[in-house]
Amino acid sequence: MADTQRHKVSPIDDTAEGAARTARIVNTSAVVERLPVGVLVCSVTSANVIEALFVNGFAREVFSLTESTVLPCPLDTIWNSADNHVLAGQVLEVFRTARDSNFEWSIRAGVIERFLSSHLMPLLDHEGNVYQVICTIEDQTAEKLAERNLLHHAFHDALTGQPNRVLFRNKLEEAVADCQREGNQTGCAVLIINIDRFQQINESFGHSAGDRFLISMASTLRRCIRSSDTLARLSGDEFAILVSRFKDVEEVEMISRRVHEAMQQPYDLDGNEVFTSVSIGVATTLSSATHPEDLIRDADFAMHRAKGAGKSRTEIYHRDSHQRARSQFHLETELRRAVERNELELYYQPIIDLKTSQLHGFEGLTRWIHRERGFVSPAEFIPLAEETGVIVALGRWALKAACHQIKAWVDENSADHAVPVNVNVSGIQFARDNVAAVVEKALEESGIDGRFLRIELTESAIMANPMRISESLNRIRKLGVKVALDDFGTGYSSLNYLHQFPIDVIKIDRSFINQLERGNAPYKILQMIGMLASNLGHEVVAEGLEDLEHINMLRDLDFGYGQGFYFSKPVAGKDATEIVKGNLPWRT
Ligand code: C2E
Ligand code: CA
Ligand code: CA
Repeated sequence: MADTQRHKVSPIDDTAEGAARTARIVNTSAVVERLPVGVLVCSVTSANVIEALFVNGFAREVFSLTESTVLPCPLDTIWNSADNHVLAGQVLEVFRTARDSNFEWSIRAGVIERFLSSHLMPLLDHEGNVYQVICTIEDQTAEKLAERNLLHHAFHDALTGQPNRVLFRNKLEEAVADCQREGNQTGCAVLIINIDRFQQINESFGHSAGDRFLISMASTLRRCIRSSDTLARLSGDEFAILVSRFKDVEEVEMISRRVHEAMQQPYDLDGNEVFTSVSIGVATTLSSATHPEDLIRDADFAMHRAKGAGKSRTEIYHRDSHQRARSQFHLETELRRAVERNELELYYQPIIDLKTSQLHGFEGLTRWIHRERGFVSPAEFIPLAEETGVIVALGRWALKAACHQIKAWVDENSADHAVPVNVNVSGIQFARDNVAAVVEKALEESGIDGRFLRIELTESAIMANPMRISESLNRIRKLGVKVALDDFGTGYSSLNYLHQFPIDVIKIDRSFINQLERGNAPYKILQMIGMLASNLGHEVVAEGLEDLEHINMLRDLDFGYGQGFYFSKPVAGKDATEIVKGNLPWRT
């Protein structure tokens, strides 16, 4: 007390001498009071109550105390919260052990949390007993928040503030582990959400508008999920949702439905109404793998399928469909190679003159003889080739192969005996390739006359782009190459348009022939087509002739030509050569 008294010297002594004296006196309580570190001195009563004897300015501020707080007072009356017990416990421990201690703790004042670091030092009497404990308190809030901020950046997307891929993966891992721990009573699901045509928004409105769009997209998506679900932004225009602990997959479907519904509302981008849609892929621990990485991969795969199936939809991943798609991918690679390595072979199905039963021509049909799988059906590989664009190379190959064969027949049997070969050309090839130029080149290279080559294309191929294809067909016909309209009766079958197409031959589809009965509707329609075709000067070929009854009906209807298993299946080049020579395998 005497000490304190001595230090209580008025700092206001404005004589020069007084000022000099004042300058040499250290007022320790003023120093301690002003330290930017909290200082608290505690003692313990006989009833084991910890009392605060001294609290400096910084500590008062931390504990939201006023200067008027009467000391000493029990620690738990200074402020009453759970944080209090942390400090009290530590102080008691120092009284017991007489050892320094360091610890970190935090204190909450309203919504503000302060992170504190404390050091406790025992004051010992001459017998070595602790009679007081000094506690320093440093405020580490700024450092802690900076650290948290750094952590936040490492795990969050800077633009939308949502968890990023790293955090999403961590949360997914936890969710999957929870499911497994609980014996898979519930499932978790990953939804990958890709914005359809985001590139267009970026290009039309600029990148900063694109950014604003993504931010509002994130908040739209947040509104579609439950508070226990996680929304993350994985990359540019891709978000992901983690749905954990769902009982019924219907809950997941509902979230995806909500997302699609939310997309119906336009976004306001600088006064422009922008409509968008998303493609969603879903993988759940029920339908897919249980490894987090696999779930993401499968959901991504499903999302790409949703895009492929026309966007603005949800696809749920199923193990089987994935495997099918994988083997499809394998097949695609092999098909590309097959064209390059000449694993394809053109087969020839005779087209017969129904009046004379003589050979009229052939239809060239591609066969893929696979090293391991053997015969792969065109029904399988032609759609695949069209989907993947391999059809262009395949179509060019077929034209070349046909011309090569025709040339061989012309050389062997003279042009008088040679018959035309029809080559199928896909609508996709018309869209991607200059078919007229390819045909011209094939004729030139083989040196055959255009009248020996015909091309077949379907009505739907023409209808996809009537102007462009008609132009191309006209160029082809100028080369002396005839054009056949394939599969007539399956597509639009618009008799009205028939006269507008630049075609020479109509091929009636097998499904039509199958239904033929004397006097029935298909019969009458065929009658009409027959008349119309002869008026327009078109040849008519009936496909898929399997029985004599149908053939006789067609003969009665005055149909010129037919092809089908009744006469011959498609055969390899050498067997076709026999037929060209006159060794017909059918009865005439
Ligand atoms: P398509 O052009 O309609 O060819 C006729 C299909 O019917 C051929 O099947 C042929 O084998 C089959 N067929 C012929 N007569 C009969 C019959 O009496 N009964 C039955 N049930 N079927 C008969 P294929 O060879 O399997 O070819 C299927 C399709 O694949 C073809 O239909 C064609 O669209 C396409 N295709 C085949 N080769 C090529 C090609 O080189 N290029 C293009 N673009 N498509 C091709
Ligand atoms: Ca055909
Ligand atoms: Ca056909």
